[in-house]
Order: sequence, then structure tokens, then C-alpha cells
Amino acid sequence: SPRLSLFDLPLDVISLPQTLDRLSGWMFGGPRAAHTVVTLNPEFIVQCQTQPDFVRAIQSADLVTADGVGIVWAARQLHQTEVPRAPGFDIVKGLMERHGAELRVFFLGSKPGVAELAAQNAARDHGIQVAGTHHGYFDLDEDQRVAELVAASGAHLLLTAMGARRQETFNQYWRQVIGVPVMIGCGGVLDVLAG
Ligand code: UDP
Repeated sequence: SPRLSLFDLPLDVISLPQTLDRLSGWMFGGPRAAHTVVTLNPEFIVQCQTQPDFVRAIQSADLVTADGVGIVWAARQLHQTEVPRAPGFDIVKGLMERHGAELRVFFLGSKPGVAELAAQNAARDHGIQVAGTHHGYFDLDEDQRVAELVAASGAHLLLTAMGARRQETFNQYWRQVIGVPVMIGCGGVLDVLAG
């Protein structure tokens, strides 16, 4: 898919179904390799003006989708291009619906208890396997421990919901240690799944 540049950040012109196809391929279609996915929203662009590590994390992502209409609008204004939306929640739900019991998911982030509840609900509703859960309130000196926990879990999909910047920089910095085929920063998604 073509890639645009929006305020010096990459943005892939890719629809939700195309995104699901690509991520399915990374998870089940060949040799296991680590990939990161960013779902771009306007808040990220604002934070990137003062946070070079956030910029680098987005620039190194394998896929950057438009999370919402704000990004779609910006791409239309700046590039006269219609970029389809592929929001984080729809990507996560789509992968779970598509793969069900063959999919192992690690739920990382949110306040203590939320990831467990999100995992229980997702397992009930979609039959997915829960590779593991961990809350999102740990210090930087615990990053390696958490990354190794995820690496040992055998997950195909890592949902990292620790807020903008923290979730993207964590995924990008630890990607080779974690080695999960699809790692996606997905903000409030665990809270929504937890209901
Ligand atoms: N969160 C987290 N660790 C943090 C900060 C936030 O796990 O250090 C979680 C928070 O509990 C919520 C999600 O990240 O489930 C998104 O948080 P918020 O809406 O504050 O972040 P934003 O995406 O707006 O930056």
C-alpha cells in the first residue's frame, strides 16, 4: 500500500480489510518475525512535536493506519488523498473474529484487573487463547521483565494499551526481545473490551 507523510510521520493508505489481511499474514503466513503497528490519531501528532522518541517509534513502525476521521481529514487537506480508517479497536476485534481459537493474545496495559477482564471477555466472545495479561503501570526499569514475559508467552498478537507514546515506544524499543508477530499500540481498547 502507498505511504504518505503527515507532519513528518508515515501514514499508510490501507483499509481495514487490507490491514487484517496483512496482519494475518504476519501472524500465520510465514516465518515468525516481529512487527509493530501504530494507529495514528491527532493527539499523537501533537505529542510528536515535543517527543522525538515518539517520532522515531512511529517512523520505525511496520504499519501506520488512520485511527479516526481527524487523520483522514488531514490527509485529504494535505495530500488530496482519501485514506481509509482502520481504527485500533476494529483491527483488534477483526483479528479476534477472523482467527478465534487459533489466535494467542497477550493483553498488556490499563489499570490492574482490566487486562484480565478484557482477556476473559475476549476468550468468551471470540474463543481466542489468552497468552497472558499484565497491567500497564510499571516503571521503565521493569520494561525488560515485562518484555521477556511477553516473549515467553507464545503470543501471536500483543495488545499494548499504556497510553499514547508509552505504548508505541515500548513496542518499538523491545520489539526484537518480544518477537511477537504483531504488536499494536491500542490505547483504550482493553478498557472497552473489559466493558
Ligand atoms: N495506561 C497505562 N499506563 C500508563 C498510562 C495509561 O496502562 O502509564 C492505560 C490507561 O489505563 C488506559 C490506556 O492506557 O487504559 C489509555 O490511557 P489514556 O487514555 O490516559 O492515554 P492516551 O491514549 O489518551 O494517551
